[in-house]
Amino acid sequence: MPETQSTLITGIGQLVTNDADQGAYAALADAALIIADGEVAWTGPASRAPAADAVVDAAGRAVLPGFADSHAHLVFAGERSAEFAARMAGRPYRAGGILVTVEATRAASDATLRANLRRLVAEMLRQGTTTFECKSGYGLTVPDEARALALAAEVTPEVTYLGAHVVPPEFAGDPAGYVDLVRGPMLDACAPSARWVDVFCEDGAFGADAAAAVLAAGRAAGLGARVHANQLGPGPGVQVAAEAGAASADHCTFLTDADVDALASTPVVATLLPGAEFGTRQPFPDARRLLDAGVTVALATDCNPGSSFTSSMPFCIALAVREMRMTTEEAVWAATAGGARALRRTDIGHLAPGARADLILLDAPSHAYLAYRPGVPQIAAVWQAGRLVAGVSTPAAGAAGP
Ligand SMILES: [Zn+2]
Repeated sequence: MPETQSTLITGIGQLVTNDADQGAYAALADAALIIADGEVAWTGPASRAPAADAVVDAAGRAVLPGFADSHAHLVFAGERSAEFAARMAGRPYRAGGILVTVEATRAASDATLRANLRRLVAEMLRQGTTTFECKSGYGLTVPDEARALALAAEVTPEVTYLGAHVVPPEFAGDPAGYVDLVRGPMLDACAPSARWVDVFCEDGAFGADAAAAVLAAGRAAGLGARVHANQLGPGPGVQVAAEAGAASADHCTFLTDADVDALASTPVVATLLPGAEFGTRQPFPDARRLLDAGVTVALATDCNPGSSFTSSMPFCIALAVREMRMTTEEAVWAATAGGARALRRTDIGHLAPGARADLILLDAPSHAYLAYRPGVPQIAAVWQAGRLVAGVSTPAAGAAGP
């Protein structure tokens, strides 16, 4: 079928549009949508839909914008299930941590890393993620970080340089020397493949001055800033993000009132990663406090082999609703439009005419089912830039309507 053909999706029980002008969740009932040239060409009541070349009957099911997962660590080798099992059992486990993955990643071939990465990307797409960010951070040498970013750039434009993930063992006695490497020769090698620079600003990782220096060097090289902030305890991460003009401060689990004020009074998005709290059995961030203060909140997976090995945005939505007291509308907005904000993208996260036609057909009549039926596969079909890339758009034969 030629790319220029238009497709009408009609019989949509609930069309989540997230009207971009209002910056809030919005939806239409009994709706239709037309895709043409990879974009949304029209939305409105099904009864008034114009004709199109092809027609899909949603049969009362819901259509949402594709998920925008703005925080993921996908270039790595190995796995850490034994570490996870020990943590859940409350058993000590010495051979764990980020450096285990660093060692495995350095030792892996390009082909192994690429195969792992592509498997995760396919897994995300099947679960409705049509845009995702991908960080480096398991190489921590100039060639290994550059290799991770080149691989990430094969699969997404949202590539993030995270040389400042942790100080590698060979710099254990000279952390300042490692910061110089990260903001010097390593940045030079990595910037051509990246759009963003990120720092793990936390006790035991990088302090405020080192984090600010890395972000400043990244910005001078043309990269936008993001920060891993206030995950494990109170700290300077959010303030560093605000001062650097970062697009997003990620985790935001331990915040002071001044941190909340900084997020509310700047365009910095608070990206919450409930998969990490789930995977480490830590307290969840206080999403209600942030939302009530007027902070823009995004949800993302933090997909990584250590603390959060999920690629599922529906799982994160369910956690956000059940454990973080977000409404179903807030959680779906945060996983779509919020993620778009965190990536400073205006073409995704909503379904107004002119938006990229990234959308999900749910096997359910309402967005609320994403949290109401946790753990159940409900992504019937996924379109990316107007192309059907996962699932089937027709209801299963003999299936009862929702
Ligand atoms: Zn992370």
